[in-house]
Amino acid sequence: MACGCCSAPKKGNGFFSSNKWEVIKLVISLVLLVTAFFWHDIFGHEAYETYAKYINPSWVVIIFCGVPLFQAAWHGLFHEKKIKVSVLISVAILASIALEIVAWCGVSVESGHADHSNLFAAGEIAFLMALGGYIEDLTVKRTRKGIERLLDLSPRTATVKLFGELIVMEVSQINVGDIVVVKPNDMIAVDGEIIVGETAVDQSSITGESVPCDKKIGDLVYAGTWNKSGAIEVKVTKKSNETTVAKLVSLVEEAEGKKAPIARLADKWASVIVPLAISLAVVVFLVSKFAFNIPWLDAAIRGVTVLVVFCPCSLALATPTAIAAGLGALSYRGIMVKSGKAIEELARVNTVCFDKTGTLTTGQIAVNDVYFEGIEEKEFLTLIGSSENNSEHPIAQAIVNYAKERAEIVTPKTVNSLVGIGVQAEVNGKTVLIAQWKQFESENGKIADKAKEMLEKGLTVIGVKADDKLVGVVSVSDTIREDSPYAVNLINNNYNTVMLTGDNKNAAERIAGLAGVKEVKYQLLPDEKLEYIKSKQQAGGKVCMIGDGVNDAPSLATADCGIAMGAFGSDLAIETADIALMNNDVARLPGLLRFSKKVISTIKRNIVLAMTINFAAVILSLFAILDPVTGALVHNCTSLFVVGNSALLFLDKDKNYKLYKAKQEGASKQSA
Ligand code: AMP
Repeated sequence: MACGCCSAPKKGNGFFSSNKWEVIKLVISLVLLVTAFFWHDIFGHEAYETYAKYINPSWVVIIFCGVPLFQAAWHGLFHEKKIKVSVLISVAILASIALEIVAWCGVSVESGHADHSNLFAAGEIAFLMALGGYIEDLTVKRTRKGIERLLDLSPRTATVKLFGELIVMEVSQINVGDIVVVKPNDMIAVDGEIIVGETAVDQSSITGESVPCDKKIGDLVYAGTWNKSGAIEVKVTKKSNETTVAKLVSLVEEAEGKKAPIARLADKWASVIVPLAISLAVVVFLVSKFAFNIPWLDAAIRGVTVLVVFCPCSLALATPTAIAAGLGALSYRGIMVKSGKAIEELARVNTVCFDKTGTLTTGQIAVNDVYFEGIEEKEFLTLIGSSENNSEHPIAQAIVNYAKERAEIVTPKTVNSLVGIGVQAEVNGKTVLIAQWKQFESENGKIADKAKEMLEKGLTVIGVKADDKLVGVVSVSDTIREDSPYAVNLINNNYNTVMLTGDNKNAAERIAGLAGVKEVKYQLLPDEKLEYIKSKQQAGGKVCMIGDGVNDAPSLATADCGIAMGAFGSDLAIETADIALMNNDVARLPGLLRFSKKVISTIKRNIVLAMTINFAAVILSLFAILDPVTGALVHNCTSLFVVGNSALLFLDKDKNYKLYKAKQEGASKQSA
């Protein structure tokens, strides 16, 4: 089978891209090759020897299938200044042609390799390479289908409400602020906010989550998801090229462009393999001719066979096909992997760090209690609600929700987010500081006593200062995700698990205990989280960080592999993480870690298989058991094995996950 390393420039994976013209060329080539096989019989010996041998149909096959290969070799040598494996095959084809021309001159061979079959051999090698390239193209395309379906998730048109009329418009023409009408059972074409109607939206195309989400006025909907029940009107919030699905598409395109480092193996080796193969072919020729006294044309055929079987096409396919199949299979589980490198890194990690809020916990935080002194309740709530109004932190949102119901929220004059600590703002002429209780630990008095009481209960405690005076505390609590203990338990079997949080000791230990993580680090500022990850790395560890992607961007970026949860709809999470879980399904994590190892072991198996068969083929060609034609066949079969082995990744079933979900469903049915 031909491969990327032998392929012609700008033509996809094989010598040919899989369009109709390529199929036609292959069919014509096959017919001509069969004709070439019987050429001698068609004309009879006399006519053949006088003129027919010169007009052998193999020439056309060589032009159709061999020329793109020569171009690839030429392009590699003279434009990219690289010795590519296509050079080997080109030399093999040219050498076969040369042997044919020599045979025309009357030199005959003693082996079973018949006179004048050299041209046929050259044509067949070129044809097999082209066919292999075509099959590879098709197979790789199939394995990438999971990813490519994303491209189909972007409807080209949408119905826009303009001056009371409904107009069908190209999605690219729709502007932010336009109103799009979406009928039931239509795919939503834009990212936006529902302003009229209620519905259930099936987001499974992106999140992998099969249960439709209920959406009402004010909720966000995304392009590429299905409106299931009611008609809705959506106010567009993003241009078509900035939607979540558009981001995913460009991310996937980028991932496909980036090969895993291991993928460059064959390219890297080409500069060694090509001279080595040519030298070995020359040595085989010389030894056969002079040491074993084999006629020189037979010796040359052995040399040419070595060239054909030495081509490490299967080796070049070993990694990209496994990565493409792995990425595709994961996309069906709602997991987007940015690059092959991310999978490789994930397979190597030995420490898995979890963020607490929004990762092991639901992130749906609620205010538990508030306590204030020397300030009116309404004013206290206005100060905290207004200061937090622009923050995306789950605690901020809980405070805003609580305050909104009880007091007026105003726009602060200034807001300064203190990442991992809290927020500082100027509201109604007062400087407000809202921060984790650690910042106020030196305080005494009733507010401090109340804070200690809250801390002892394992609550998250936030202190509030107005104009530098402590005026109150707020306690919030978070609930552990139902699936966190299952996920952590399984991960504990093979990894060191750590929870990193900025929260206080009691709150951290409560959640860590419930989830079952082996280690817990609390009251960490964002750079302390980084320091922890770096210290593990310096000690030789490989760290995977799992966070919500919004507050953990630096940790996700520093870890060897960063996984963002609930990334659907969050551009930041999609951009910072190496792997993005489109849903919040922590139960997917153990399967993801296991699968990353499976992808890498598939790659290793592919490499061993490819190298072993190639090595055996070289030995067989040394003893003339293989000739250029059978050599090309063996070579292509190996590549097919490799592609098939990679495609097996698609059959991977996350058994533990399925069992767990089935049990969960059974239990919920029973309790109902
Ligand atoms: P994080 O690491 O982002 O979870 O933040 C660590 C701690 O800082 C939280 O547990 C809170 O106590 C505090 N914190 C961070 N951001 C805010 C905020 N916007 N409002 C109140 N407290 C916050």
